[in-house]
Amino acid sequence: ANNIYVSILYFLFCSYDWFQTDSLITLVIYTKQKDMNAELVIVDCQDKRLRGEIIVDDHSYLVAVDLDHAVSEDVAVNIAEKVGKVEIIFNKKDNIHWKMLGQPWEGHNTFIKRTDRGLFYRKCKLISKTEVTHDTKLFCLMLPKGTHLHVPIGQHVYLKQIIAGTEVVKPYTPVLPFLPLNFQEPSHHDGVHIYLMIKIYSHGLFTQALDHLQIGDYISVSNPEGNFKKSQVQTSEDLLLLAGGTGFTPMVKLLNFALTEVSCLRTVKMIFFNKTENDILWRNQLEFEIQFILSQPTKDWVGKQGKISSSLLSEFVKRSRSDSKVLICICGPAPFTEQGVQYLKDLGYSQEEIHAFTA
Ligand code: FAD
Ligand code: NAD
Repeated sequence: ANNIYVSILYFLFCSYDWFQTDSLITLVIYTKQKDMNAELVIVDCQDKRLRGEIIVDDHSYLVAVDLDHAVSEDVAVNIAEKVGKVEIIFNKKDNIHWKMLGQPWEGHNTFIKRTDRGLFYRKCKLISKTEVTHDTKLFCLMLPKGTHLHVPIGQHVYLKQIIAGTEVVKPYTPVLPFLPLNFQEPSHHDGVHIYLMIKIYSHGLFTQALDHLQIGDYISVSNPEGNFKKSQVQTSEDLLLLAGGTGFTPMVKLLNFALTEVSCLRTVKMIFFNKTENDILWRNQLEFEIQFILSQPTKDWVGKQGKISSSLLSEFVKRSRSDSKVLICICGPAPFTEQGVQYLKDLGYSQEEIHAFTA
């Protein structure tokens, strides 16, 4: 019965076709989704292996084949957003007539729950590593040429490394290379680089290994995951961001999007909790309404101090009008996020008005 269900679903929602010219192979996927966009299409093409995944709500449609003949590394993706048609175009290496697209591999032409698909990893090259603070670095990774992948706002990827013979996987939230000046122009993904702001812990298993990577080394990066929907921001009038330490990372793209592309927003405020002044990430780029709160300040600190608390939140988290539509996003150490959510609920904010970033 399950199989019948799956077959009917993919018949209803997705199908594919392909055609060729002397020099090109075009794979067409019909999704019948009205709001198809580049973030919902993930393509990997390496060594004659093609994997194209389309995200349709909480489902995933997959085309996965060993191509009949070789193609060059570059891949182009065209999307007809209104009709939900996705074209994936490759250049043939040789002008040969292909008899078939290729041999299917596991999962080919299936439409299943995203959570059942499993993560797919591709190797990305470490391009640069720049200091952000005494313990945090900005890592720039480059996607392989045959990959098309955009990480949506509020989503994370998993990095995978073999450490002492064991596979270790940890989630990280991509940021922008910097926050745009005055937020006049939206900063868009260049399609090639992924920037990660990562705190290196002195006894951290994964981050120590990461810190030892050399420029030019490779690391496996997964498909994006996460349940944040940007429509949550698009309909808000007040946006409040509560970040603790590297819990700042999901706020970067969110801020950029909110301040450059959402017209109905009246107020955007961020409260950034850190232990000390030296821990504040990108402080010189944060020039909008922002409140810094330190839990371990030196005696010269004149700003606010303390940990997240009901009284701090009641002071800073206020609706601009009694009936404004509010979205409060919170991210940081697990106890910080859990306590924050509880305090917000105690202050009368509903579940729908709060988004907590977790794994
Ligand atoms: P671990 O070996 O796990 O330990 C880290 C440090 O914490 C060590 O000093 C250890 O002694 C201590 N420690 C470990 N467990 C505990 C505990 N339970 N209580 C107290 N101390 C403990 N991190 C970023 O820097 N940037 C990001 O963008 C980012 N995004 C994330 C997104 C998601 C969805 C999630 C869930 C986490 C994210 N993280 C991010 C955290 C990241 O996934 C790792 O947890 C972090 O890098 C530490 O990994 P590690 O293996 O180096 O540390
Ligand atoms: P940190 O130790 O530097 O602390 C940051 C702030 O959180 C400080 O103000 C500190 O006082 C406060 N804090 C710490 N423990 C607290 C507690 N028990 N109760 C209340 N407040 C507390 O933080 P860090 O080392 O930068 O860690 C950031 C955390 O954010 C990590 O746990 C990481 O996994 C998480 N994170 C999650 C996501 C996500 O999407 N889920 C993304 C990025 C980071």
